Amino acid sequence: MTGSTTVTVRAAAKINLRLGVGAVRPDGFHPLATVYQAIGMYDDVTAADADEWALTVTAHDRIDVSEVPTDDGNIALKAGRLLATHHGLTRAASIRIDKGIPVAGGLAGGSADAAATLLALDRLWDLQTSDEDLLRLAGELGSDVPFALIGGTARGDGRGEIVKLVEDNGSWWWVVVESDEGLSTPRIYATFDELNPDGVSDPEIDAALLDALRTGDATALAASLRNDLQAPALHVRPALGDVLRLGEEAGALSGIVSGSGPTCVFLCASRPAADAVREAFIDAGHTRVQAAPGPVAGAHEVSF
Ligand code: ATP
Repeated sequence: MTGSTTVTVRAAAKINLRLGVGAVRPDGFHPLATVYQAIGMYDDVTAADADEWALTVTAHDRIDVSEVPTDDGNIALKAGRLLATHHGLTRAASIRIDKGIPVAGGLAGGSADAAATLLALDRLWDLQTSDEDLLRLAGELGSDVPFALIGGTARGDGRGEIVKLVEDNGSWWWVVVESDEGLSTPRIYATFDELNPDGVSDPEIDAALLDALRTGDATALAASLRNDLQAPALHVRPALGDVLRLGEEAGALSGIVSGSGPTCVFLCASRPAADAVREAFIDAGHTRVQAAPGPVAGAHEVSF
Protein backbone atom coordinates (compact mmCIF):
# COMPACT_ATOMS: atom_id res chain seq x y z
CA MET A 1 0.00 0.00 0.00
CA THR A 2 2.93 2.38 -0.40
CA GLY A 3 1.74 5.72 -1.65
CA SER A 4 -1.74 5.63 -0.03
CA THR A 5 -2.66 8.88 1.68
CA THR A 6 -5.00 7.22 4.15
CA VAL A 7 -5.47 3.67 5.38
CA THR A 8 -8.58 2.38 7.15
CA VAL A 9 -8.50 -0.70 9.34
CA ARG A 10 -11.58 -2.33 10.84
CA ALA A 11 -11.40 -4.17 14.17
CA ALA A 12 -14.14 -6.14 15.92
CA ALA A 13 -15.56 -6.25 19.42
CA LYS A 14 -14.71 -9.27 21.55
CA ILE A 15 -16.73 -11.31 23.95
CA ASN A 16 -15.38 -13.88 26.42
CA LEU A 17 -17.01 -17.30 26.19
CA ARG A 18 -15.04 -18.24 29.27
CA LEU A 19 -13.29 -15.77 31.50
CA GLY A 20 -11.38 -17.53 34.24
CA VAL A 21 -9.76 -15.09 36.66
CA GLY A 22 -7.15 -16.03 39.25
CA ALA A 23 -5.92 -14.27 42.37
CA VAL A 24 -4.18 -10.95 41.77
CA ARG A 25 -0.42 -11.30 41.15
CA PRO A 26 2.29 -9.23 42.87
CA ASP A 27 2.58 -7.13 39.67
CA GLY A 28 -1.07 -6.13 40.06
CA PHE A 29 -2.36 -8.20 37.13
CA HIS A 30 -4.80 -11.06 37.43
CA PRO A 31 -3.85 -14.33 35.71
CA LEU A 32 -6.52 -15.10 33.11
CA ALA A 33 -7.56 -18.16 31.18
CA THR A 34 -10.04 -16.99 28.62
CA VAL A 35 -11.64 -17.92 25.33
CA TYR A 36 -12.29 -14.87 23.21
CA GLN A 37 -14.58 -14.59 20.24
CA ALA A 38 -14.66 -11.66 17.80
CA ILE A 39 -18.24 -10.66 16.94
CA GLY A 40 -19.73 -8.49 14.21
CA MET A 41 -19.56 -5.04 15.82
CA TYR A 42 -16.73 -2.82 14.60
CA ASP A 43 -14.63 0.29 15.03
CA ASP A 44 -12.92 1.72 11.94
CA VAL A 45 -9.60 3.51 12.37
CA THR A 46 -8.29 5.74 9.58
CA ALA A 47 -4.70 6.93 9.64
CA ALA A 48 -3.12 9.69 7.56
CA ASP A 49 0.31 11.29 7.63
CA ALA A 50 0.48 14.50 9.69
CA ASP A 51 3.07 16.86 11.17
CA GLU A 52 1.79 16.28 14.73
CA TRP A 53 -0.07 13.40 16.37
CA ALA A 54 -3.80 14.13 16.38
CA LEU A 55 -6.94 12.14 17.08
CA THR A 56 -10.65 12.56 16.38
CA VAL A 57 -13.52 10.32 17.34
CA THR A 58 -16.82 10.02 15.51
CA ALA A 59 -19.57 7.59 16.46
CA HIS A 60 -22.88 6.07 15.58
CA ASP A 61 -25.74 7.95 17.33
CA ARG A 62 -26.29 5.18 19.87
CA ILE A 63 -22.73 5.42 21.21
CA ASP A 64 -21.68 7.92 23.85
CA VAL A 65 -18.07 8.92 23.23
CA SER A 66 -17.93 11.68 25.84
CA GLU A 67 -15.60 9.54 28.00
CA VAL A 68 -13.20 8.73 25.17
CA PRO A 69 -10.03 10.82 25.52
CA THR A 70 -8.72 12.58 22.41
CA ASP A 71 -5.32 13.32 23.95
CA ASP A 72 -2.44 10.97 24.76
CA GLY A 73 -4.76 9.05 27.10
CA ASN A 74 -6.32 7.46 24.04
CA ILE A 75 -4.91 3.98 23.55
CA ALA A 76 -4.90 4.46 19.76
CA LEU A 77 -2.37 7.30 20.08
CA LYS A 78 -0.30 5.17 22.45
CA ALA A 79 -0.32 2.45 19.80
CA GLY A 80 0.78 4.88 17.09
CA ARG A 81 3.64 6.26 19.13
CA LEU A 82 4.73 2.78 20.20
CA LEU A 83 4.91 1.58 16.59
CA ALA A 84 6.86 4.66 15.51
CA THR A 85 9.31 4.22 18.39
CA HIS A 86 9.69 0.52 17.61
CA HIS A 87 10.86 1.45 14.11
CA GLY A 88 12.96 4.42 15.30
CA LEU A 89 10.74 6.87 13.40
CA THR A 90 9.97 10.44 14.39
CA ARG A 91 7.00 10.78 12.03
CA ALA A 92 3.43 11.41 13.22
CA ALA A 93 -0.08 10.69 11.99
CA SER A 94 -3.65 11.81 12.42
CA ILE A 95 -5.97 9.05 13.57
CA ARG A 96 -9.74 9.05 13.11
CA ILE A 97 -11.77 6.51 15.09
CA ASP A 98 -15.29 5.77 13.91
CA LYS A 99 -16.85 3.92 16.82
CA GLY A 100 -19.39 1.17 16.42
CA ILE A 101 -18.32 -0.59 19.65
CA PRO A 102 -19.83 0.85 22.83
CA VAL A 103 -17.40 2.50 25.25
CA ALA A 104 -16.58 0.83 28.60
CA GLY A 105 -18.94 -1.99 27.70
CA GLY A 106 -16.70 -4.99 28.30
CA LEU A 107 -16.35 -5.42 24.52
CA ALA A 108 -12.75 -4.14 24.35
CA GLY A 109 -13.44 -1.25 21.98
CA GLY A 110 -10.29 0.60 23.03
CA SER A 111 -8.23 -2.54 22.43
CA ALA A 112 -9.78 -2.86 18.96
CA ASP A 113 -8.71 0.73 18.22
CA ALA A 114 -5.16 0.05 19.39
CA ALA A 115 -4.89 -3.05 17.21
CA ALA A 116 -6.39 -1.24 14.22
CA THR A 117 -3.97 1.69 14.68
CA LEU A 118 -0.94 -0.60 14.74
CA LEU A 119 -2.04 -2.20 11.49
CA ALA A 120 -3.16 1.03 9.79
CA LEU A 121 0.16 2.76 10.44
CA ASP A 122 2.13 -0.33 9.49
CA ARG A 123 0.34 -0.26 6.11
CA LEU A 124 0.37 3.54 5.70
CA TRP A 125 4.10 3.72 6.27
CA ASP A 126 4.85 0.37 4.60
CA LEU A 127 6.79 -0.79 7.65
CA GLN A 128 6.28 -4.54 7.13
CA THR A 129 6.33 -5.17 10.86
CA SER A 130 6.47 -8.92 11.51
CA ASP A 131 3.35 -10.58 12.96
CA GLU A 132 5.46 -11.56 15.96
CA ASP A 133 6.45 -7.94 16.64
CA LEU A 134 2.90 -6.67 16.10
CA LEU A 135 1.59 -9.17 18.64
CA ARG A 136 4.31 -8.25 21.12
CA LEU A 137 3.65 -4.51 20.78
CA ALA A 138 -0.08 -5.23 21.07
CA GLY A 139 0.54 -7.11 24.33
CA GLU A 140 2.44 -4.11 25.72
CA LEU A 141 -0.58 -1.90 24.99
CA GLY A 142 -3.14 -4.06 26.77
CA SER A 143 -4.25 -7.60 27.56
CA ASP A 144 -6.99 -7.71 24.90
CA VAL A 145 -5.06 -6.01 22.08
CA PRO A 146 -3.30 -9.12 20.65
CA PHE A 147 -6.67 -10.86 20.30
CA ALA A 148 -8.09 -7.85 18.45
CA LEU A 149 -5.32 -8.37 15.88
CA ILE A 150 -6.01 -12.06 15.28
CA GLY A 151 -9.81 -12.25 15.77
CA GLY A 152 -11.76 -15.47 15.25
CA THR A 153 -12.00 -17.59 18.38
CA ALA A 154 -8.88 -17.90 20.50
CA ARG A 155 -7.74 -18.77 23.96
CA GLY A 156 -5.86 -16.15 25.92
CA ASP A 157 -3.43 -16.97 28.73
CA GLY A 158 -1.07 -14.98 30.93
CA ARG A 159 -3.05 -11.78 31.47
CA GLY A 160 -4.98 -12.61 28.29
CA GLU A 161 -2.26 -11.39 25.91
CA ILE A 162 -0.81 -14.80 24.96
CA VAL A 163 -3.27 -15.78 22.24
CA LYS A 164 -3.72 -18.94 20.23
CA LEU A 165 -6.56 -19.70 17.80
CA VAL A 166 -8.82 -22.60 18.79
CA GLU A 167 -10.83 -24.79 16.44
CA ASP A 168 -14.30 -23.33 16.05
CA ASN A 169 -16.66 -24.92 13.52
CA GLY A 170 -19.76 -23.06 14.64
CA SER A 171 -21.61 -20.11 13.10
CA TRP A 172 -22.89 -18.49 16.24
CA TRP A 173 -25.50 -15.80 16.72
CA TRP A 174 -25.37 -13.45 19.67
CA VAL A 175 -27.70 -10.77 20.91
CA VAL A 176 -25.73 -7.93 22.46
CA VAL A 177 -27.57 -5.81 25.04
CA GLU A 178 -25.77 -2.62 25.99
CA SER A 179 -26.37 -0.56 29.13
CA ASP A 180 -26.84 3.18 29.35
CA GLU A 181 -23.89 3.50 31.69
CA GLY A 182 -20.49 1.77 31.42
CA LEU A 183 -18.74 -0.16 34.20
CA SER A 184 -15.15 0.51 35.15
CA THR A 185 -12.96 -2.54 34.53
CA PRO A 186 -10.63 -1.78 37.52
CA ARG A 187 -13.65 -1.49 39.81
CA ILE A 188 -14.97 -4.88 38.72
CA TYR A 189 -11.57 -6.52 39.32
CA ALA A 190 -11.39 -4.88 42.77
CA THR A 191 -14.83 -6.29 43.57
CA PHE A 192 -13.68 -9.69 42.29
CA ASP A 193 -10.77 -9.52 44.78
CA GLU A 194 -13.14 -8.68 47.63
CA LEU A 195 -15.51 -11.50 46.75
CA ASN A 196 -12.70 -14.05 46.17
CA PRO A 197 -10.09 -13.64 48.90
CA ASP A 198 -8.77 -17.16 48.18
CA GLY A 199 -8.57 -17.07 44.39
CA VAL A 200 -6.75 -19.77 42.40
CA SER A 201 -3.37 -19.05 40.82
CA ASP A 202 -4.09 -20.95 37.60
CA PRO A 203 -7.59 -20.52 36.19
CA GLU A 204 -8.54 -23.13 33.60
CA ILE A 205 -10.57 -23.61 30.43
CA ASP A 206 -13.11 -26.45 30.57
CA ALA A 207 -12.61 -29.14 27.92
CA ALA A 208 -16.40 -29.09 27.38
CA LEU A 209 -16.21 -25.53 26.02
CA LEU A 210 -13.48 -26.41 23.52
CA ASP A 211 -15.45 -29.52 22.47
CA ALA A 212 -18.60 -27.44 21.91
CA LEU A 213 -16.65 -25.05 19.68
CA ARG A 214 -15.09 -27.88 17.72
CA THR A 215 -18.42 -29.64 17.13
CA GLY A 216 -20.38 -26.43 16.56
CA ASP A 217 -23.02 -27.52 19.09
CA ALA A 218 -24.87 -24.42 20.30
CA THR A 219 -26.65 -26.14 23.19
CA ALA A 220 -23.34 -27.50 24.49
CA LEU A 221 -21.68 -24.11 24.07
CA ALA A 222 -24.52 -22.43 25.95
CA ALA A 223 -23.99 -24.84 28.84
CA SER A 224 -20.25 -24.03 28.92
CA LEU A 225 -20.32 -20.21 28.98
CA ARG A 226 -18.79 -18.95 32.21
CA ASN A 227 -17.41 -15.62 33.36
CA ASP A 228 -15.73 -15.18 36.75
CA LEU A 229 -16.35 -11.42 36.51
CA GLN A 230 -20.10 -11.93 36.26
CA ALA A 231 -20.63 -12.18 40.04
CA PRO A 232 -18.71 -8.92 40.71
CA ALA A 233 -20.52 -7.18 37.84
CA LEU A 234 -23.89 -8.28 39.28
CA HIS A 235 -22.73 -7.19 42.73
CA VAL A 236 -21.98 -3.68 41.46
CA ARG A 237 -24.98 -3.53 39.07
CA PRO A 238 -27.71 -5.91 40.34
CA ALA A 239 -30.08 -4.84 37.54
CA LEU A 240 -27.97 -6.90 35.13
CA GLY A 241 -29.64 -9.98 36.69
CA ASP A 242 -32.97 -8.82 35.21
CA VAL A 243 -31.34 -8.43 31.80
CA LEU A 244 -29.94 -11.98 31.94
CA ARG A 245 -33.32 -13.39 32.97
CA LEU A 246 -35.19 -11.52 30.26
CA GLY A 247 -32.95 -12.87 27.50
CA GLU A 248 -33.29 -16.46 28.64
CA GLU A 249 -37.09 -16.10 29.03
CA ALA A 250 -37.19 -14.70 25.50
CA GLY A 251 -35.61 -17.87 24.11
CA ALA A 252 -31.86 -17.36 24.25
CA LEU A 253 -29.93 -20.56 24.96
CA SER A 254 -27.85 -18.75 27.56
CA GLY A 255 -26.84 -15.26 28.61
CA ILE A 256 -23.63 -14.00 30.12
CA VAL A 257 -22.07 -10.71 31.18
CA SER A 258 -19.41 -9.79 28.63
CA GLY A 259 -15.95 -9.36 30.18
CA SER A 260 -16.20 -6.84 33.00
CA GLY A 261 -19.68 -5.77 31.81
CA PRO A 262 -22.13 -4.16 31.75
CA THR A 263 -22.93 -5.44 28.24
CA CYS A 264 -24.74 -8.79 28.31
CA VAL A 265 -24.55 -11.23 25.42
CA PHE A 266 -26.98 -14.04 24.63
CA LEU A 267 -26.21 -17.10 22.59
CA CYS A 268 -29.12 -18.00 20.30
CA ALA A 269 -29.81 -21.12 18.25
CA SER A 270 -30.07 -19.31 14.90
CA ARG A 271 -30.35 -15.87 13.34
CA PRO A 272 -34.20 -15.92 13.50
CA ALA A 273 -33.96 -16.90 17.18
CA ALA A 274 -31.56 -13.99 17.75
CA ASP A 275 -33.95 -11.60 15.98
CA ALA A 276 -36.78 -12.77 18.27
CA VAL A 277 -34.67 -12.22 21.40
CA ARG A 278 -33.65 -8.80 20.11
CA GLU A 279 -37.33 -7.88 19.56
CA ALA A 280 -38.18 -8.99 23.10
CA PHE A 281 -35.55 -6.62 24.53
CA ILE A 282 -36.79 -3.76 22.36
CA ASP A 283 -40.39 -4.44 23.47
CA ALA A 284 -39.16 -4.29 27.07
CA GLY A 285 -37.75 -0.81 26.48
CA HIS A 286 -34.07 -1.55 25.78
CA THR A 287 -32.88 0.69 22.98
CA ARG A 288 -29.35 -0.51 22.32
CA VAL A 289 -29.71 -4.13 21.30
CA GLN A 290 -28.32 -5.88 18.27
CA ALA A 291 -27.78 -9.31 16.81
CA ALA A 292 -24.18 -10.08 15.87
CA PRO A 293 -22.54 -13.12 14.30
CA GLY A 294 -19.34 -14.71 15.47
CA PRO A 295 -16.61 -15.52 14.93
CA VAL A 296 -15.46 -12.72 12.60
CA ALA A 297 -12.02 -11.68 11.34
CA GLY A 298 -9.35 -9.83 13.26
CA ALA A 299 -8.15 -6.33 12.37
CA HIS A 300 -8.03 -5.92 8.58
CA GLU A 301 -7.68 -3.16 6.04
CA VAL A 302 -10.87 -2.04 4.33
CA SER A 303 -11.40 0.18 1.31
CA PHE A 304 -14.50 2.14 0.47
P1 ATP B 1 -11.65 -2.99 28.79
O1 ATP B 1 -12.28 -4.19 29.42
O2 ATP B 1 -10.45 -3.31 27.94
O3 ATP B 1 -11.46 -1.82 29.70
P2 ATP B 1 -14.07 -1.94 27.70
O4 ATP B 1 -14.74 -2.41 26.45
O5 ATP B 1 -14.82 -2.16 28.98
O6 ATP B 1 -12.66 -2.60 27.68
P3 ATP B 1 -13.23 0.46 26.41
O7 ATP B 1 -14.35 0.93 25.55
O8 ATP B 1 -12.11 -0.23 25.73
O9 ATP B 1 -13.80 -0.42 27.59
O10 ATP B 1 -12.65 1.73 27.20
C1 ATP B 1 -12.44 1.81 28.58
C2 ATP B 1 -11.94 3.22 28.91
O11 ATP B 1 -10.71 3.48 28.22
C3 ATP B 1 -12.89 4.33 28.44
O12 ATP B 1 -13.80 4.67 29.46
C4 ATP B 1 -11.96 5.47 28.07
O13 ATP B 1 -11.82 6.39 29.14
C5 ATP B 1 -10.59 4.84 27.82
N1 ATP B 1 -10.16 4.85 26.40
C6 ATP B 1 -8.92 5.15 25.94
N2 ATP B 1 -8.84 5.02 24.61
C7 ATP B 1 -10.05 4.63 24.18
C8 ATP B 1 -10.57 4.33 22.90
N3 ATP B 1 -9.84 4.41 21.79
N4 ATP B 1 -11.85 3.92 22.85
C9 ATP B 1 -12.59 3.80 23.98
N5 ATP B 1 -12.15 4.11 25.20
C10 ATP B 1 -10.87 4.51 25.32
